[in-house]
Amino acid sequence: MDKKIIPPPFKIKMVEAIRLIPRKEREDAIRKAGFNTFELKSEDVFIDLLTDSGTSAMSDNQWAGMMLGDEAYAGSKNFTNLKNAVNEVYEFPYVIPTHQGRGAEHIMSQALIKKGDIVPNNLYFTTRRVHQELAGGKWCDVSVKEATEAQSTFLFKGNIDIRKLHALILKARKEGVTIPYISMEACVNMAGGQPFSMGNLWDVRNISLKYRIPLYLDATRLVENAYFIQQREKGYWGCSIKEIVSQICSLCDGITVSAKKDALVNIGGFIALRDENVFQKMRELVVVWEGLHTYGGLAGRDLEAMARGIYEMVDDDYIAHRVKQVEALGGRLEKSGIPIVTPIGGHAVFLDAKRFVSHVPQKAFPAQALAAAIYVESGVRTMERGIVSGQHGNEPYDGLELVRLTIPRRVYTREHLDYVADGIIALYKKRGTIRGLKMIYAPKTLRFFQARFEEL
Ligand SMILES: *Cc1c(COP(=O)(O)O)cnc(C)c1O
Repeated sequence: MDKKIIPPPFKIKMVEAIRLIPRKEREDAIRKAGFNTFELKSEDVFIDLLTDSGTSAMSDNQWAGMMLGDEAYAGSKNFTNLKNAVNEVYEFPYVIPTHQGRGAEHIMSQALIKKGDIVPNNLYFTTRRVHQELAGGKWCDVSVKEATEAQSTFLFKGNIDIRKLHALILKARKEGVTIPYISMEACVNMAGGQPFSMGNLWDVRNISLKYRIPLYLDATRLVENAYFIQQREKGYWGCSIKEIVSQICSLCDGITVSAKKDALVNIGGFIALRDENVFQKMRELVVVWEGLHTYGGLAGRDLEAMARGIYEMVDDDYIAHRVKQVEALGGRLEKSGIPIVTPIGGHAVFLDAKRFVSHVPQKAFPAQALAAAIYVESGVRTMERGIVSGQHGNEPYDGLELVRLTIPRRVYTREHLDYVADGIIALYKKRGTIRGLKMIYAPKTLRFFQARFEEL
């Protein structure tokens, strides 16, 4: 028996039909969508790897919890259950629910950043950076250089470059500029779903304590990061995912979370904190933007599903299967000579468009063009993570040019992912036919969601 196949640690008891529309209709659909996969209709998509955000399959246990929603305006028992889950798994005493991750980022940024501050980050996440900037802060990259090297096989591309961070702090002090907090993301999405190591987190924590600058994590993909620490870092092999998650949290002052990822729900998020004063401040803001501090823009049933998802996400068998499923897809592509980002990330396989369509220059949006071509070839929806997502106005950008194949949790089988790999391998053989794009419309912020293109 092939030992490498790990069967899913669940069975399926409800199904949703999907359909592959004919190629001619796919060509029409992508043109109508302005060659932007965000503008496609879900019913025109066969296998949807756009994102793993809010696309998880909930368990029978979570669905059962949905029927126990206590829809009281204040003090719902589902909030108590959520608070207990966060206390137990992340081990933070204070919890503020929000409608999703960006709601949490908005509140954290508005509460802590003032105009002229600088915020060090390990690369960036789109919404997190926008909220830091809208609050008047200046985003500063302190990621290790391997983070943007698609071909580097470094195991912890999510690390912060300690020397860069240190230099930034000294410079800020000299110039009298405030650093309100250090912002660190788990399993850095923009680097390809790449983890930080516990050793690096300790180093960052020591700097944070030495200079009295709080450390706040974007813990949206903390469980996947914990899995990589367990698998790759010396001394953690015998630890459970839950133990590693709690150790990570013990090294920081608070977290923001989009529960639409790790926590296996379709909507939800939260902030968790250790400092009571910071908690009071953010609690005042949540009632302005999200909803009362015991529901934060969510129904009681959503809070319950999130509470139950938090316990399920730290199941060792579940998370091993999830990450291995991503690894199996990436492994097949890699074996066929498709250029991908290595090591393979926790939630997604990233195609390196600069090498896949090397005849398309960056100003003709290679990753955007490749994502559109994959849809036409196979009905599979993916997402651009390159200059369209990365560039902000007219700043220079020579970073990564990636297409993300994101695997929703507990949704697709190995056969689905084999189909995806077959389609990409077939497309790679005729990659010379893929044409670059011209941008004909771009919104001012987060342009990748709504930008439109024409074929060159
Ligand atoms: C998805 C995500 C967010 C934003 O969360 P939403 O729930 O989409 O608002 C923030 N940070 C990271 C790392 C994410 O993956």
